[in-house]
Amino acid sequence: MATIQKELVKTSSFETSDSSFDLSSCSLETLALHAGFIPDPATGAMLTPIYQTTTYRQEAVGKDKGFTYSRSGNPTVSALERRLAALEGAKVATCYATGLAATTALCLALLRAGDRVIVSQAVYGGTVRLFREVLASFGVEAEFVDTADEQALATALVEPARFVFVETPANPTLKLTDIALAAKLAKSAGALLVVDNTLHTPALQRPFELGADIVLHSTTKFIEGHNATVGGVLITSDAKLHERLAFTRNAIGAIQSPFPAFLTLQGVKTLPLRMAQHSANALRVARFLQGHPRVTKIIYPGLESFPQFELAQRQQTSGGALLAFEVEGGVEAGIRLMNSVRLCALAENLGAAETIITHPASMTHADVPNEQRTAAGITDGLVRLSVGLENPDDIIADLEQALSH
Ligand code: PLP
Repeated sequence: MATIQKELVKTSSFETSDSSFDLSSCSLETLALHAGFIPDPATGAMLTPIYQTTTYRQEAVGKDKGFTYSRSGNPTVSALERRLAALEGAKVATCYATGLAATTALCLALLRAGDRVIVSQAVYGGTVRLFREVLASFGVEAEFVDTADEQALATALVEPARFVFVETPANPTLKLTDIALAAKLAKSAGALLVVDNTLHTPALQRPFELGADIVLHSTTKFIEGHNATVGGVLITSDAKLHERLAFTRNAIGAIQSPFPAFLTLQGVKTLPLRMAQHSANALRVARFLQGHPRVTKIIYPGLESFPQFELAQRQQTSGGALLAFEVEGGVEAGIRLMNSVRLCALAENLGAAETIITHPASMTHADVPNEQRTAAGITDGLVRLSVGLENPDDIIADLEQALSH
């Protein structure tokens, strides 16, 4: 425990190299480059080095420099934690080996057998699998609720719940939950609000300003942004919650390794620029698909036709990089399209610089029970597109040729 306490001190401020320069009033672009950076005391290296070490020499028993063993803390990982906390406008963060390791740590830190949680009906398939197929056998009850529906959420909160876990936009249906409303309902029921902000990142959506208690990311996606790592983070401004999370991470051994933390520190520098370009490209592609005779349904929060367009305008600064659509001819036609793309990559990820096309029903959401997939609107013909940073004309040309098959 003593080790964790020291690590908490190191991760709990927005320290920079130059104590005379206060970054707290800087914009996101500046924070993405500078927040959390402390120059290497030995060399002054511009980048936080990869501290590839298991352990740290101690001057005397009980006298260390804040790090004792890389399962409880590592300087490269701490630098990433300071930067991600600053980007979300919060105080502290803990980084994990993957996004799902972060969700697992969250649950093991906060839940006991007999506890109940409320989870958005449409969420990443791995989150559903974790609650249904792992945590259920430890006596944790997860109720999957349409958190976009105020009445459904209020009704679910009549019975005690430890936390409400929302993913907005939801992967892959892009359904939105009103974060401010969910925070209000959760608070009045004595539950915490956890927001998975993976799909939008703090560049497009600010959950803490809307009342969230904890923000989760799969940093695998837009935060690192280059298809190079897997990682996760839990961010909060509550010191007690953070202490519990850091303790649990050490106890279960789920910390991120220094190399992916280093790559994520580089990737996140361009987050605001990338998110703006992803969104602009996605809007162009969405408009193309909307006008294509073979596309029967297009879901994109930046289009006026999006059912929750007003909420999208209020809650997020642009439509984001993700869109979902269906094509004439149902499942077979959708699969033919995904097998025919040349530039877009058929793969199980999102949030990378390259455009990725995915079939949620057979890939990312294959383990979600059929009834839940149907209730959440994840049809067998749904195609998910994570629009990348290529020239949008090239993405459109690729989709056009694929749609002609
Ligand atoms: N949250 C969301 C919204 C995701 O899309 C994913 C993965 O696709 C995760 C969490 C899990 O992250 P990871 O794949 O890094 O474990």
